[in-house]
Amino acid sequence: MENIVVIHGGAGSPSSLNSVLKEILSNIIYNGTALDMAIKPVVAMENNSIFNAGTGSVPRIDGSIQMDAAVMIENGFGSVICIENVSNPVLVARDVMEKSPHIMISGDGATEFARKMGHEYYNPETEKSKNMMIKFKESLKNNTIPEKFQFMFKSSEDTVGAVSRINGKFAAAVSTGGSFPMLRGRVGDSPVIGAGIFAGNKGAVVATGIGEEIAKSLLSYRIYEAIGTEKLSDIVKKEVNKFKVSAGIIAISEEEQFAYSNTDMAYSMQQY
Ligand code: ASP
Repeated sequence: MENIVVIHGGAGSPSSLNSVLKEILSNIIYNGTALDMAIKPVVAMENNSIFNAGTGSVPRIDGSIQMDAAVMIENGFGSVICIENVSNPVLVARDVMEKSPHIMISGDGATEFARKMGHEYYNPETEKSKNMMIKFKESLKNNTIPEKFQFMFKSSEDTVGAVSRINGKFAAAVSTGGSFPMLRGRVGDSPVIGAGIFAGNKGAVVATGIGEEIAKSLLSYRIYEAIGTEKLSDIVKKEVNKFKVSAGIIAISEEEQFAYSNTDMAYSMQQY
């Protein structure tokens, strides 16, 4: 069984980003546990403003930036929800799993927890997020926004995630600024166990796409649970193709790995 790391750049991210992801995988150091190897590329993507995670996260409609991240291994889970002013939410999620008695910490509590764990103040705002707000305000003025947030179903992209299989153990990590436009406090699938992420003794799964729909179907757990019943690629395709909104998956099992989306999705894998 070879060691492998699979990463994605979000449902909606163009395949032209595959080379960026490949470079990210070629720059990380290949040592450590499955959890280390899922987290390393996610940290690198959080630090790259192209992606909607960490630096480069999309804003909420009040202009604030709140981020979600999660990590999971067999019998271990940690997530932060709507955390603000940290550079690497995925590292705070790891601290939730390893250094707190909890599995999920949200809002101000997540940011306070991050400070206590030594994660310094950092403003993840970029020109991209500022411009999104400017355009959003203009469209509000022009009254071009459809009712009831239907427009949300168009603009999710560039969330990041990773799954790894190292020495037979599995891990998953995910990080996102969310799905623009969205309310302050909105929670998608990414930091919710079984929705945007799942890992256990038979594999690891990370989802991307419209979080509201993905969470309603517990997509990641559904795929994990089916591992072993048929080919991983068939399981993933069957589940993802049920979605009418954008949805993508990276998944690994003991023998297989697969990346698939019903829209564009940049991804890359490295075996070693
Ligand atoms: N699933 C993420 C969310 O809804 C967004 C994404 O994957 O692009 O927050």
